[in-house]
Amino acid sequence: MTLQPLPIHVPTFPGETVDSFAHRAAAANHSTVTDIHAALRQHRLLTSRARNGPQRAHLWRQLGALPPHAFTTPTNPLGDPIPARPMCPTCAGGDTVIAHQPQLGMICLRHQCTLPPPHAPVGHLPGTLAAERRFRHLHRTRGLVLDSPAMTTARDTALLASTNDGAGRHLDAPLGPSAIAIFPSQVALAAVITDPSFLTITCRTTTPAPHRKNYIATRVARATGSDRTHISKAARHLWTVIDDLTDYLAAVHTGHRTFTDTAHHLLPYFSDPPNTTEAWKG
Ligand SMILES: [Zn+2]
Repeated sequence: MTLQPLPIHVPTFPGETVDSFAHRAAAANHSTVTDIHAALRQHRLLTSRARNGPQRAHLWRQLGALPPHAFTTPTNPLGDPIPARPMCPTCAGGDTVIAHQPQLGMICLRHQCTLPPPHAPVGHLPGTLAAERRFRHLHRTRGLVLDSPAMTTARDTALLASTNDGAGRHLDAPLGPSAIAIFPSQVALAAVITDPSFLTITCRTTTPAPHRKNYIATRVARATGSDRTHISKAARHLWTVIDDLTDYLAAVHTGHRTFTDTAHHLLPYFSDPPNTTEAWKG
């Protein structure tokens, strides 16, 4: 059975969730999602309760007269999560639109505002705008998304570098105003830790650990624009990540683990991971 589209057409946005579109389309047609869903249930057309599931996607594509590719959320080649977020309200024409936008970091470059509410203006922060451009480049070239484990590691390291005392209490802080403040450092560090040469150098166990630690500290200081004396905890944090990765690689080498993944998901960024050529193709 094919549903008749709602009388008033509402365009959708790339990456918009079914739930977001449903609310906007229902409101434009002077109705509510609850009432429309109740009618669909009555006719046994809607049985699923999944807000953004395939059944609702199918029904709302028909109700909205949308093309078949609507609500087909992009998947990331590295399998990292791409949560739905509020779009820049100006890009969304003043509407509240929730969408998956993996190619975007924290900033709408067109309207020079933060993507996380309250969509604060950042036109006066050239470093933040440059960081957004750099993030988008990393997305295109290395598949990074905002919630990639590499970005989380970079964020944690940047937070530690942003405080002179390196207080670890910030490590699990949710996105807030400080997330924008450290975004330039976060992106610069993400570029470092997904750089194949950085990973190769720091994971090379034939190089003494103090030399590798020193190299990490130098790269952290350069990426964050900080003095070496202020980034010791940040550098130590990144060293623990690299140390884990080194242990993992050693275990793989000796056949103690299958080559699947690590806690930090940095393996895909090696240019030539040891004994993995075939595994990567899978
Ligand atoms: Zn915008």
